[in-house]
Amino acid sequence: MFNIKEFEIMKEKALENHIPIIMDDTLEKIKEILKKEKPKRILEIGTAVGYSAICFARYAETCIIDTIELDEERAKEAIENIKKVGVDERINVIIGNAVEILPTLNFEYDIIFIDAAKSKYSIFLEQGIRLVKNGGIILADNVLYKGYVMSDYNKHKQRTAVRHLREYIKEVTENPNLESEILEIGDGLAITRVTK
Ligand code: SAH
Ligand code: MG
Repeated sequence: MFNIKEFEIMKEKALENHIPIIMDDTLEKIKEILKKEKPKRILEIGTAVGYSAICFARYAETCIIDTIELDEERAKEAIENIKKVGVDERINVIIGNAVEILPTLNFEYDIIFIDAAKSKYSIFLEQGIRLVKNGGIILADNVLYKGYVMSDYNKHKQRTAVRHLREYIKEVTENPNLESEILEIGDGLAITRVTK
């Protein structure tokens, strides 16, 4: 049973601790996609404390979710949260660096959600394309990064991340096998349909 009370508590705590969980309008859009696509298996890159993974389990009711987190403390907190909310039978937390873990995975995913180190988005995309089914979807959060990505101001300390995000957007919009929309919701959400 999905425990709404525990879910609300963990969301509040994540916000209090400034964990960068997906924003409400981003979640609304993802919820729409989940209802339409009815995924059987989702891969998430960047678990943090498990908030978005728990949301996937909530809105895609029979779906299995594999989620990767580099930070051991956060991963452990995610595992606890997932248990408390009652969705631990459907969410597998993998602790480690996604750059190393992704090449070892061999499941076929209906949806892949990228929400981790911005400078690794191109690597995540390449592996995502390998792991997603034909006609599947790759979502990437934070692609507009506080508006920096679409502005020409380039001198701030996040410029490396911005360069990588621009490369990500270029790739998903120019690759003929990919069909993408970049939405100005939350911190920017890229929705990419993959044809193989
Ligand atoms: N998806 C979460 C938020 C993720 S925040 C939610 O919406 O609830 C981004 C997370 O990615 C951080 O916890 C960070 O530790 C993790 N991360 C960063 N680089 C990573 C990598 N290379 N592999 C796996 N996780 C990574
Ligand atoms: Mg994010």
